[in-house]
Amino acid sequence: GICLDLGGTGFIGLYILQQLLQEGYDVLAIVRDAEKGRYLCSKFGEKVDFAVVEDITKPDAFDAVFQTAGQVEYVIHAASPFIYGHSDAKTEVLEPSIEGSLQILRSVLNWAPSVKQVVLTSSLAAMVADPSATGPINESHWNPITFEDSLKPKNTYIGSKALAERAAWDFMSQYPGIHFSLTTICPGLVFGPPMFPSQSGEKDNTSIQFINELVQGLHADAVPEAPVPMWVDVQAVSSAHVLAIRKKAAQDHRFALVNGLYTVDEVVGIMRDQFPQLEGRLPAPGNSSKPPMELDNSRSRDVLGVGYRSLEDCITETTKSLMASNGI
Ligand code: NDP
Repeated sequence: GICLDLGGTGFIGLYILQQLLQEGYDVLAIVRDAEKGRYLCSKFGEKVDFAVVEDITKPDAFDAVFQTAGQVEYVIHAASPFIYGHSDAKTEVLEPSIEGSLQILRSVLNWAPSVKQVVLTSSLAAMVADPSATGPINESHWNPITFEDSLKPKNTYIGSKALAERAAWDFMSQYPGIHFSLTTICPGLVFGPPMFPSQSGEKDNTSIQFINELVQGLHADAVPEAPVPMWVDVQAVSSAHVLAIRKKAAQDHRFALVNGLYTVDEVVGIMRDQFPQLEGRLPAPGNSSKPPMELDNSRSRDVLGVGYRSLEDCITETTKSLMASNGI
C-alpha cells in the first residue's frame, strides 16, 4: 500500500521520508508546489512520487489526491508552520495547523476507505501546562490553551500544536467505528544535523537555530535562553512516526517523544569540549538551569521501541554539520 506523506520537505520530514523509502514503502509526498516535489525527487530519486496541494486549509484540499492516488494505507502528516516571527497568527500559523489536520482527516473519512492509520505530528507543547496533572509529563496531560490565548504571539506556535491535536482527537471521537485509527507523535525541541545542510550557513530550522547562532558566534557575550527546555533527537522522532505505522499497539495513542531536559550551558559545554576551534565564538559559562519538571518517555520506548541517544552525541553531530555549513 501507499503511504501519503505530508511535510516531507521539512527538517523532521526529510528523515521520515528517507526512512519510509529505506523500509520499502511506496511514498506519495504532498508538497505545496511542484518545485519542492522536484527537489525531493532530486534528493531521493524516482522512488518518490509527489502531488501538489497548494493550500492544506481549503475545504476538500486532499480529495483529488485520494481520488487518484490508488490504495493509500497510511497517512503521515508532519506539515505545519514552525515559525515564531509571524505577522498574522490566525492565517499564518493557527489555521494551517488546525484546519490542515482536520482537512486530511475529513478526506480520509470521505474518500479513502483503504487508509488504516493516520499519524499526526503534534508536540510536547500539547502536553505541558496541564493544571490538573500531577507527576511527570506524559500522554495523559493536556495543555488547556485556548484559541484566544493562542493569538498572543508568544503562545501562537504552542497553541497551534495543542489545538490541532485536540481537534484531531475530537474529530475521531465524533465517528465511533471509523475505518482508520489515529496516532499522534509529540516531540520536545528537536536537535540533529539537517539531512541536506545548507551551504551558506543561512537560517536553519527553528529548533536548531540557536545552535547555528552559537556556531556563528552570535552569542559570544552571553549564554542565550533555551527556546524550550526539553529536547529529543531527530532520529528518535522520525523513527517513532514509522514505527507507529508498523505497530498495531500504537493505534489510538499519543506518544511523548523526549530525551530529557537540557540547559544551554550543557549544549555550549559539549560544543566547547568537542570543537576547540569554536573557542572565542562561544559564551563563558552562564547559570542556566533546568525547570522543575519531570518527563516520562516510557510509552515511546515500551510500545514503539524508540531508542534515545545522548545529548553529547546529538549535539556533537549537529554542531559538526552546522560548522560545515558555515565554512568552519
Ligand atoms: P520545518 O519548518 O522544517 O518543516 C515544516 C514542514 O511543514 C515543511 O514540509 C513545510 O513545507 C510544511 N509546512 C509549513 N507550513 C505549511 C503550510 N502552511 N502549508 C503546508 N505545509 C506547510 O519544521 P520541522 O521539521 O521542525 O517540523 C515538522 C513538524 O514537527 C511540524 O508539525 C512541527 O510542528 C513539529 N514539531 C517540531 C519540533 C521541532 O523542534 N522541530 C518539535 C515538536 C513538533 P514547505 O517546505 O513547503 O515550507
